[in-house]
Amino acid sequence: MRTFSQFEIRNEILESLDLLGYKTPTEVQEEAIPEILNDKNVVIKSKTGSGKTATFSIPLIQKIVWDKKNPQALILSPTRELAMQIKEEIFSIGRLARIKVEAIYGKSSFIKQEKLLKQRNHFIVATPGRLLDHMTRKTIDLSEVDYLVIDEADEMLKMGFIEQIEEIIQQINPKQIILLSATLEEKILNKIGTYITNPVYISVEDHN
Ligand code: ADP
Ligand code: MG
Repeated sequence: MRTFSQFEIRNEILESLDLLGYKTPTEVQEEAIPEILNDKNVVIKSKTGSGKTATFSIPLIQKIVWDKKNPQALILSPTRELAMQIKEEIFSIGRLARIKVEAIYGKSSFIKQEKLLKQRNHFIVATPGRLLDHMTRKTIDLSEVDYLVIDEADEMLKMGFIEQIEEIIQQINPKQIILLSATLEEKILNKIGTYITNPVYISVEDHN
C-alpha cells in the first residue's frame, strides 16, 4: 500500500499528517512529492479536490531550513479565501516541525500585515496585488525565497493576474517553481511557462 513514509520526509511531518487524518497519499501527491523533494520545477494538472495543497506543502516543509530569518517559500493564491486555507494547511502539516507561515491579501490592514511580516516566517502565502504593494514599499524581504508556488493558475489567468505574477518572478528569481492548476490552458504555459526551466509535467486524469 502507498504510504507517506515512502517519502524522505521527517517524522514530525509524518506525525502531523497522521493527526490530520491523511492516511495515504492521493495520486497527485504520490507522483509529485518525490519530484519536488528532488528540486525539480514541476507543472501539475489535477482536478479540484485531489489534494494539491499538501502536494506542495509536504515537500517544501521538508526542505525549509529552520533557522533562516526571512521567508524561503512564497505561495501565490488568486483569492484571499484560498490564501487563508493554504495558510491553515501549511500550519497543520508544519505544526510539529514548528514551521511559521503568514498570509497577506487585499482588503485587510496593511499596517497589521507589515507587523506580521517583521516576524520570522518560513512561508508567505499571498495574493499577487497585495504582495506587489509590500514589495514596492519594501515591507517584505523576499531575498531568501528559494521556492515559488503558483496555485490555481487557471484562476490567476481568469482574474488577470498573469502580468503581476511575471513581475514577481522576475523580481525574486526563485530556484524552484511549482505551478498547479485544474486545467492547463496554452496561455498559461506560453506566459508563465517561459519562466519555468525544464519542468516535469504531471497530469493526473479524472477517474469518474
Ligand atoms: P485541490 O487543491 O486539488 O483542489 P485540496 O488540497 O484543497 O485539493 O484538498 C482537498 C481536500 O482533501 C482537503 O480537505 C484536504 O484536507 C484533503 N486531503 C488532501 N490530501 C489528503 C490525503 N492524502 N488524505 C486525505 N485527505 C486529504
Ligand atoms: Mg487547490
